Amino acid sequence: MASLIGIDIGGTTIKMGQFKLTGALIKKWEIPTQTAFDGMFILNDIEASLSLEVNLLDVKGIGFGVPGPVNGSVVLEAVNLGWKHLDVAEVFKQKFPHIPVTVDNDANVAALGEALSREDAYPSMVFFTLGTGVGGGIVVDGKIVEGSHGAAGELGHMIIDLNGALCNCGQKGCLETIASATGVVRLAKKHGSDLTDAKAVFDAAKAGDLKALSAIDEMTDALALAMQHVAVTVDPDAFVIGGGVSKAGAFLIDKVKEKYQKMAFSDTKHVAFEQALLGHNAGMYGAFQAIKQKVMI
Ligand SMILES: [Zn+2]
Repeated sequence: MASLIGIDIGGTTIKMGQFKLTGALIKKWEIPTQTAFDGMFILNDIEASLSLEVNLLDVKGIGFGVPGPVNGSVVLEAVNLGWKHLDVAEVFKQKFPHIPVTVDNDANVAALGEALSREDAYPSMVFFTLGTGVGGGIVVDGKIVEGSHGAAGELGHMIIDLNGALCNCGQKGCLETIASATGVVRLAKKHGSDLTDAKAVFDAAKAGDLKALSAIDEMTDALALAMQHVAVTVDPDAFVIGGGVSKAGAFLIDKVKEKYQKMAFSDTKHVAFEQALLGHNAGMYGAFQAIKQKVMI
């Protein structure tokens, strides 16, 4: 039976999934990422694992998600893997010359997975991942938006507060300094709370703690503002919120949605708000969607 493979290469594990052309997952498995010797064994390990797990004669294409900027099939730099200027398609072709591949940034394929691998797909969707940092991805008309410098979807570095806290990127007041797990804790402290992790701040806010509520209010104000800016730029069908902080669930999403709708321009107030569905498998699903688009057109 014809199938496609989606592979999400992370710094510690490589997640692989075999899918029917329709999108149904046939099987998934993972192997550890060997980062020794500048990651030179990673693609060998993947090739060996694929030979073991699937009948390669059935495989019509393989999609990769990698943790770093990508140009075509060249990974410009993936610090967590030890890769620099590695043409994944070129290396892969030596072993499996008949199998087409796609290579994309992991945050972008995660967005593609969250946009298209759900029952009611959103052809145009903007994905915000709120974790230790803030990441994201933009999908327009079913396609990843990469931008001219590979920076499209770097939503965490949208500047929201000109006089805000210093960001890892060197600028001040980026969304990441406010809406990440670290940002939430920083805001809680600013409002006089001594809670030291984001989940505790959300739990306290849910229970009515005023200091925690002030922190979450400030955080959701910033996130809603960022979404307003994105809405008048991209005008998506949906915003999907993922990452560890999104586990706060409806409490977070309803708050952001309400604030967003108050400042939304015209009909962009009808943008759907969703919590991410795929968790750590989003990249694997999205890598499948990317290769599906390449081979099925
Ligand atoms: Zn920044």
